[in-house]
Amino acid sequence: MMSDAARKFLVAMLLFLAAGGVIGWFYGQAVTGLMIAAVLALLWQVRQLLSFDRALRTGNFDDFRYGEGIWEQIFSRFRYEHDKATRRKKEYRRLLKEIRKSTDAMPDGAVILNAENEILTCNRAAKGLAGLKRKKDRGQRMDNILRAPELTRLLHASDQTTTVEIESPVVDDNWLNCRVVPYGADQKLLLLRDVTESIRLGKIRRDFVANASHELRSPLTVISGYLDALADGEDVPPTWEKPLSQMQGQAKRMRHILGEMLELSRLESAGRVESDEPVNVVGLMSNAKQAYEGYADIATIAVAAESTAKLTGNAAEIETVIINLLSNAVRYTPTDGEIGIAWRSDADGASIVVSDTGEGIAPEHIPRLTERFFRVDRGRSRDDGGTGLGLAIVKHILARHDAELIVTSEPGEGSEFCCHFPPNRLIATPTPVLS
Ligand code: ADP
Repeated sequence: MMSDAARKFLVAMLLFLAAGGVIGWFYGQAVTGLMIAAVLALLWQVRQLLSFDRALRTGNFDDFRYGEGIWEQIFSRFRYEHDKATRRKKEYRRLLKEIRKSTDAMPDGAVILNAENEILTCNRAAKGLAGLKRKKDRGQRMDNILRAPELTRLLHASDQTTTVEIESPVVDDNWLNCRVVPYGADQKLLLLRDVTESIRLGKIRRDFVANASHELRSPLTVISGYLDALADGEDVPPTWEKPLSQMQGQAKRMRHILGEMLELSRLESAGRVESDEPVNVVGLMSNAKQAYEGYADIATIAVAAESTAKLTGNAAEIETVIINLLSNAVRYTPTDGEIGIAWRSDADGASIVVSDTGEGIAPEHIPRLTERFFRVDRGRSRDDGGTGLGLAIVKHILARHDAELIVTSEPGEGSEFCCHFPPNRLIATPTPVLS
């Protein structure tokens, strides 16, 4: 389809050439007249073309207000698009400024990284929190600037839900919480948050619990000592025998709770277990089972060594995990039930699995099991000698070993407590060389 302007242009050209021909014919030179008209038309087109080229180079389209015919339309169309593009550019620039202003106003640091963890840009808070410099650090690898092994691990991890806390490189004793959010094709947003205050409060709470537990231990030892002496005494009136034995039982329970609270405080303030000592998991499982030998009124316990994988870590702590999970299984499984402890491994790592055919746990309680002092049935657990701290200790020990606790249970059917260790916690068994 031809536009009106194109049609007009063609008609004008034909008329101009025809006029040239007619004038020439009038003088007996029709061809010469036609040719002169054609050359004039060509010169005029060349002039328009040259000024269009000039305008493209200079970016000044004002001259084209006076363009003629089809050129006028081309010029005005071009001018319109050019103005639109300029307006858009301005708008984008303004928008970019707004976005930068708002990200700069954010109290949290935000750093945009590419797939190689190189810095593309960052906001003002990232400057204050991590000492980054927008221009100077562009293109630098993030883990070269903030040198913390936890951050390096986080940047290379595929799990986006984990966060790590690192010491601030700018202010001593300040802490930053780091989180990586992937976006776009292969970019990442590293979010940095100042968590100094909550770390400080956590430390105050931990210190308080540790100090209180420690301070309570000495008077309790004295009280227990006197209670034991009194109970052993010859001249105790019979009416005092029951109260004395109850007091002894409660004192023992308090010592147990204080011991577990101190253990929890220690685990909380200790970092990751760096030991590469091999732990004989199956041996620890058999020891834990042996401790119940001779007990007639408990469910049967079966140990299954399904893997030869070697775990690295703190053997005493892994033993505590096994003992705590087994003692729970024994307490919450009826005498005719079955308890299994297994050591398994696959490509994703290895697991200590303690399963039972006991009473099970309702789904709403499962997420709260590892909270301190959480017990589904408070009175029942207390009567059984439970403290509500066993699984909290298990969770902390596992966290120190990069492991996690996965609980699955069916009320009335039984429960399974799976401690899953990642492959980096296992000693690689050399593959046999086939000859
Ligand atoms: P407790 O000393 O009370 O056993 P834990 O922290 O070890 O404390 O366990 C928390 C709660 O989880 C228990 O009170 C119990 O209700 C529940 N629980 C733990 N293990 C089992 C299990 N094997 N079967 C059923 N319930 C369990």
